[in-house]
Amino acid sequence: MFDTILIANRGEIACRVIRSARAMGVRSVAVYSEADANAAHVALADEAVLIGGPRPADSYLRGERIIEAALKTGAQAIHPGYGFLSENPDFVEAVEAAGLTFIGPSASAIRAMGLKDAAKQLMEKAGVPVVPGYMGENQDPAHLQAAADEIGYPVLIKAVAGGGGKGMRLVEVSRDFAAALESAQGEASTAFGNPAVLIEKYIQQPRHIEVQVFGDGTKAVHLFERDCSLQRRHQKVIEEAPAPGMTEEMRAAMGLAATRAAEAIGYKGAGTVEFIVDGSNGLRADGFWFMEMNTRLQVEHPVTELITGVDLVEWQLRVASGESLPAAQEELTITGHAFEARLYAEDVPAGFLPATGTLTHLSFPEGARIDSGVRQGDTISPWYDPMIAKVITHGPTRAVALARLRAALESTEVAGSVTNLAFLGALTRHEGFRAGEVDTGLIGRDIEALTAEAPVPDTTVALAALAAAGTGQGALAGFTLWAPLWQSVVLELGETEYTCAVAKAANGWIVRVNGTELSVEARAGALWVNGERAEGQALREGDTVSVFGAQTVHFTVKDPLDVAADHGAGAGVVLAPMPGLVKAVFVKPGEMVEKGARLAILEAMKMEHTLSAGRDGTVAEVLASAGQQVEAGAALIALEDE
Ligand code: ADP
Ligand code: ADP
Ligand code: MG
Repeated sequence: MFDTILIANRGEIACRVIRSARAMGVRSVAVYSEADANAAHVALADEAVLIGGPRPADSYLRGERIIEAALKTGAQAIHPGYGFLSENPDFVEAVEAAGLTFIGPSASAIRAMGLKDAAKQLMEKAGVPVVPGYMGENQDPAHLQAAADEIGYPVLIKAVAGGGGKGMRLVEVSRDFAAALESAQGEASTAFGNPAVLIEKYIQQPRHIEVQVFGDGTKAVHLFERDCSLQRRHQKVIEEAPAPGMTEEMRAAMGLAATRAAEAIGYKGAGTVEFIVDGSNGLRADGFWFMEMNTRLQVEHPVTELITGVDLVEWQLRVASGESLPAAQEELTITGHAFEARLYAEDVPAGFLPATGTLTHLSFPEGARIDSGVRQGDTISPWYDPMIAKVITHGPTRAVALARLRAALESTEVAGSVTNLAFLGALTRHEGFRAGEVDTGLIGRDIEALTAEAPVPDTTVALAALAAAGTGQGALAGFTLWAPLWQSVVLELGETEYTCAVAKAANGWIVRVNGTELSVEARAGALWVNGERAEGQALREGDTVSVFGAQTVHFTVKDPLDVAADHGAGAGVVLAPMPGLVKAVFVKPGEMVEKGARLAILEAMKMEHTLSAGRDGTVAEVLASAGQQVEAGAALIALEDE
């Protein structure tokens, strides 16, 4: 076994790897960028090396720097985590050339699966069912159109170099094909530097079911399946294992296909073979097709760990250090059911826009496995994936595991950034999901109900008003029983404003919420509103009051003396909503634009955000150009005054 390994990653996966290494008595070296000097993974590691600036290209993607750090600190092996350099065969070769061990597959195995078209051809030869389609070299638009017409609509255009759901377009009818092809190729060129696409039959009512495999370079075993059908725009949201409705026959067929895929490329370490499944008629052993293989540890690997009892990172270290496969196929079994929900700093009402912020409060319940790379007080920076944590639960049955997930999400508390917590909670209550009726379209179909903001009860507002006023101590301490002095509090929640007033009463307080009076008492360690025990807990940090509970609400406290602040020049100036890179600007000074017109594209946190005109007008000034890095709030485009 190694005595020291270096983790070429950050965030939750770096922390996750360090924990398993430590449990095995292996020292860990972290690497970090300037933006991560105070990050959790740096604090957790035995040693840490600064490798460069905040941009991934200046740090976590600099293979030579990382290898240098490993050599300098005496690490014998490098764990790549996921993302960054994990599927980069050139990096693997450089690691090996430096006399170090790469904890993962060989460069040639990664290359074999690197492009979706070549991988599909290889799998077809190995006898693994693949999605019918065109995966040839001829990229002439007319040829591709003819191929799509022959496959029959709907079809999916996919970037062969794609990943993370990018470079993909669904085409329903022949006449839409040309435009979709152009936009898929454009996105593929920018994101992956390779415009080539393949065409696939679009599977109806698709389910995403993937198989965890583990190889030693010759032989492979599988650790059963995960269902990742709960997706938003091809990105996984909640994953589970095993797949609902899976039959023993289909599991055996999928497991065989997956291990065959791994063995065909001499796979070593942990990998995932992703299949698309036709869910329109129940699960059938002849209704699954190979989509792609991810040659690394997967984000959702913990659900597999919870049902099999295997620590996959421990296995990775053991096999990389030369041990044979830690278990034979017959020794692997499924116990119970597990779920994972991905908690992100993101603004759901604004279209799931990635968010940033300092986590002024962060608390997770007991009874769930929490894989996180941030602590209370840490900052979600604009530089990297805005994931806060993975909330993972296990239970003897699917229903119990799901009830535990729901409970865990309901008692997760995050302040300092907006999150997708309410959305995840709504998913755990979704009837179809609870019944195990999942497909990749579920979220899209019910997005309105899943993101609907529940009305905020007066009780919640009252708790927030009390916290804003500083109950007990501070502001209210001087209040007298005989003179009900009212302290006014104005709370804001999105567009809604609550005008409140708080006064001390005999056994507590009276709170007015938009004219309605509520009595609040403190007894038995809790607050009671109009005689009922209040469920939420309110907490004030600066000008934000968060009320945690089944429904978490973050109010902004308005200073009543503050005259309505005029933020910028209103719709006349387009500001960068977050720090990022200007990818494109579509307008020039003097140009007329209509409300909603696309003005520019900002890339931040791996996503592209379209900035559009807030009103009709004429462009007065263009203050940013493509390729420029901008700060949050920077003025990008100004319209002439009306
Ligand atoms: P999964 O989520 O199933 O593990 P993904 O391919 O969606 O697989 O993502 C795995 C990791 O790789 C994530 O951390 C994601 O941020 C990163 N990643 C995936 N695709 C890209 C991409 N095109 N650019 C940058 N990072 C990516
Ligand atoms: P990526 O590399 O971006 O992860 P995948 O090929 O794994 O790309 O596809 C991502 C998602 O797109 C899948 O999880 C599935 O939801 C959907 N998808 C992919 N191929 C098909 C298909 N042929 N039919 C229907 N849905 C598909
Ligand atoms: Mg995929």
